[in-house]
Amino acid sequence: MHRLYLILRAFNVGSSCALLVLLMAAFALAFVFMFIYPLASLILVFLGLGGLWGSAILRKLASIVQLRVARSLLSQGLCPNCGNSRSDNIEHACQTCEARFESGGIMIVDTDPDDGMNSSVPEL
Ligand SMILES: [Zn+2]
Repeated sequence: MHRLYLILRAFNVGSSCALLVLLMAAFALAFVFMFIYPLASLILVFLGLGGLWGSAILRKLASIVQLRVARSLLSQGLCPNCGNSRSDNIEHACQTCEARFESGGIMIVDTDPDDGMNSSVPEL
């Protein structure tokens, strides 16, 4: 189950870059088609807009499923990041991989390890 969490997290992190590359490729293709067959450029514009909406919905669904999987694993006493059982403490901190999670399933990212405080960054 933690592999599903890792796949969803990788999808949520990497899908923005993949979408940017895909839309830039579509823009380049539409630019070339503008001189050859203008109707194809128009079709690519609407495909790009539809793809943008579709990917926004898909990313929102993936982040919801990711949080649900993380909450399920945390309630079973497992670390969503490495899959090992963690000690039962309030902060959901893993002894093996030192990943920390909020009770809602959001991974806590320590942006500045020296300040002694944690900041939670939602992965959307
Ligand atoms: Zn862990």
